[in-house]
Amino acid sequence: MKKSNVRELVEAGEKNKFYKRAEWTDKLRPMILERDHYECQRCLHKWDSAEYPNTRPKKLTRARTVHHVYPLEKYPEYAKEPWNMVSLCNRCHNEVEGRKWFSFKGIKKKKPEINEELW
Ligand SMILES: [Zn+2]
Repeated sequence: MKKSNVRELVEAGEKNKFYKRAEWTDKLRPMILERDHYECQRCLHKWDSAEYPNTRPKKLTRARTVHHVYPLEKYPEYAKEPWNMVSLCNRCHNEVEGRKWFSFKGIKKKKPEINEELW
């Protein structure tokens, strides 16, 4: 049975199906990668918070992953919000996924500032 929204997928323990949908693979993911010029936004220092400092030198790194800052499990309502998605390289993504979701709560205060101009 096809579940219509992200919350239903999450509640069914099938959130990975979201990442297999054409809406994600053909629309949302390429849209964010293009917005971010296929560059890892963490390596670029564009994405940071006091609780999650990025101390790396600024550099260009090819982004291969689009990450949800507010994870699907907790915030399915933000699954398709461009401000909640960020392009990351594999290394940064692994580091970010290793953290607990509440490491990102500082971003909430930044949310109004994350707009097209900043990116
Ligand atoms: Zn990176």
